[in-house]
Amino acid sequence: LKANNARSIWHPMTAPSDSLNNPPTIITGASGVRIRDVDGHEVVDAVGGLWNVNLGYSCQPVKDAIAAQLDALPYYSIFRGTSNDKVIELAEVLRDFFAPDGLTRAFYTSGGSDSVETALRLARQYHKIRGDAGRVKYLSLKKGYHGTHFGGASVNGNANFRTAYEPLLPGCHHIPAPYTYRNPFNETDPERLAQLCLAALEDEIAFQGAGTIAAMIMEPILGAGGVIPPHPSFMPGVAAICRKNGILLIADEVITAFGRTGAWTGSRLWGVKPDFTCTAKAITNAFFPFGAVMIAEAVAEVFEKDETGKAAIGHGYTYSGHPVGAAAALACLAETKRLNVIENAAARGTQLHEGMKALQARHSLIGDVRGGHGLMCAMELVSDRATKKPADKAVLARVQETAYRSGAMVRVSGPNIILSPPLVLTAADVEVILSALDAGLSAA
Ligand code: PMP
Repeated sequence: LKANNARSIWHPMTAPSDSLNNPPTIITGASGVRIRDVDGHEVVDAVGGLWNVNLGYSCQPVKDAIAAQLDALPYYSIFRGTSNDKVIELAEVLRDFFAPDGLTRAFYTSGGSDSVETALRLARQYHKIRGDAGRVKYLSLKKGYHGTHFGGASVNGNANFRTAYEPLLPGCHHIPAPYTYRNPFNETDPERLAQLCLAALEDEIAFQGAGTIAAMIMEPILGAGGVIPPHPSFMPGVAAICRKNGILLIADEVITAFGRTGAWTGSRLWGVKPDFTCTAKAITNAFFPFGAVMIAEAVAEVFEKDETGKAAIGHGYTYSGHPVGAAAALACLAETKRLNVIENAAARGTQLHEGMKALQARHSLIGDVRGGHGLMCAMELVSDRATKKPADKAVLARVQETAYRSGAMVRVSGPNIILSPPLVLTAADVEVILSALDAGLSAA
């Protein structure tokens, strides 16, 4: 398998030469919160798939729902003139779920990048319907991650995901992120930093001209950029600035929706009502590629009451409204509530975050520990705490390898070790993750 992998697969986010030199771990099984490799080694999956396996790998009710739907209606498109019972049922459930965020309509997609693409498109279209066709630009945060399509890549705040594919969409501008550990303002107080970033946002809007900007897209907690929770004043501040300037707010909740932060949605964590919320990942617990963009009532009305003829939605995905995905999502939402994963995510998240801080007290490799909102945590490794110089790639690889041999799969992203385990893990599973990390850090 390893030889065939090396000669025939290119892996996402990996240099082809890297997978030749460092063959990947080949995973062949999973159950509960554990994954098993081809050599029979079993570990706690502290990555939770890719931030998406909230309910663990067993989750029989979701598997049963998928199997039943494959028998009843395996697929039919909802493009023109057809719908299906499952997507209607799901839209009603999503409508209730997202009511506190002010979102009432669902546009179905097949994943996170698609959800971002849809929200970016609908934002421009909204302004065109209203006769404001000059609003075409987008704002986003440095360190934000919004997927792989050209729209999402253009608003991505990490150059590594953009430069190879330039030129990207014109008119995308990136605002400093409220990243307390490192920021251009050298500000270490989170609240003052939030204010400085909000001032930078206002500056950029004034510089671009408010009337040229369609939307601002942001994650409620930056995920792939290294798990960066903002000060609680930040997202409400962004929302207020956007509203004042007629700019739509897109919450990219591909990671944060459905409980990961210890709240049902990231927007709710900060008390914000966005115009669009992008979802995917945990909506189906990773068991089926699926997503939905949730749309605010006021935005929906502009499309639904349009008499200019500009409201026809000119894009969609073959798998938009896939009935099997909808059946999986319905079962996931029911299980998420039944198992009370929100409470568990909050309690286990605190345990994990505190355990990581205790590791920081003993390992000088750890420069920063971030978390405190559910099961979304990261530690940033440095070679020198005083200068904050990022640790070498080899050091991060050593931590990861040793942690894996000691019982936990963790993820390396830049200088960060990222932890986003299933929300159903136990206190004992958290201890396994922490002791595996301890072993990894000691070895490195
Ligand atoms: N937005 C965010 C915030 C994400 O974290 C991701 C994926 N990690 C995406 C969009 C893209 O989702 P997908 O990989 O399902 O296309």
